[in-house]
Amino acid sequence: MESINLLKECEGAQSIVISGHVRPDGDCVGSCMAAYLYLKKAMPSADIKVCIEKPASVFGCIKDFELIDSSFSVEAPVDVMIALDCEKSRLGEAEEIFKLAKKTINIDHHISNEHGCGDINYVIPSASSTSELIYDVMDKSYMDMDIAKAVYIGIVHDTGVFKYSNTSPKTLRIAAELIEYGFDFPSIIDETFYEKTFVQNQILGRALLESIMFMDGKCIVSYVNQSTLDFYNATPTDLEGIVNQLRIIKGVECAIFMYQVGNLEYKVSLRSCKYVDVSKVASYFGGGGHVRAAGCTMNGTFHDVINNISGQIEKQMKEYVTE
Ligand code: 5GP
Ligand code: MN
Repeated sequence: MESINLLKECEGAQSIVISGHVRPDGDCVGSCMAAYLYLKKAMPSADIKVCIEKPASVFGCIKDFELIDSSFSVEAPVDVMIALDCEKSRLGEAEEIFKLAKKTINIDHHISNEHGCGDINYVIPSASSTSELIYDVMDKSYMDMDIAKAVYIGIVHDTGVFKYSNTSPKTLRIAAELIEYGFDFPSIIDETFYEKTFVQNQILGRALLESIMFMDGKCIVSYVNQSTLDFYNATPTDLEGIVNQLRIIKGVECAIFMYQVGNLEYKVSLRSCKYVDVSKVASYFGGGGHVRAAGCTMNGTFHDVINNISGQIEKQMKEYVTE
């Protein structure tokens, strides 16, 4: 898919809304804010807004974070709607704004979003992050430290600080260009990625204690239900990173972490190390994502969910062994 020129695509627009997926992660927040700061600078008279669910407070270090509109109060239709890091069905409340917009742009790196859902699409599954793609579509003459920082945060989060297999030489070259802008990158990495509150660590500890290995130790699963979240007065954003900790246990190929989002309803996170395509597993259950990191929402008890998922994982493992 050919690259686009974001500024050109927005030419003449009076109203622009930028949005990303429900339960926004670092890449979603970083790419939305980078696009916002960039367009605001290049098109100062346009009315530009970021509409996403309230992100974790650690992203408060990004400029204009406080201007994010989580009430989705937009006078539709807008001239341009930019959907980042997802396809339209994961926009949540912003999907309505997308449907009514005069022009739609979709920039994403999810393999499950094959063709893109906008009038204009830039979907590159091999890219580390949507933030990396935002950097691609920007006219670099507008770049500054604040934009660079937002892009960098997005890349750091989706690559697990440049260590997942989605990190490419290009990703690192872009990161090198970004840190030239002089922001305090070690603090950003610590404060937005590694640092955990006491409560977050306690829930992590509990999830690890209660985890179960299966399929000869090649898979591991753990979960947190609503009563545990209530007990710690925690929210789902406090669970970020648990699945990654499960994945790096020796011998594990596939890690599954789930938390309760409703009665008999779980949000499932999947990670793999070398050969299981978890995007396929998640897509089978109506979700999506990447080859090594994906997710879906499933109904049933914890045991129903794990039975269904493990069936799909086992199928791939058998195919892998017989290959
Ligand atoms: P996480 O497990 O961190 O929530 O998500 C891992 C990856 O899968 C992210 O790139 C995320 O955007 C994607 N993902 C998670 N849940 C879903 C889902 O329900 N549908 C789709 N299409 N992608 C998902
Ligand atoms: Mn992403």
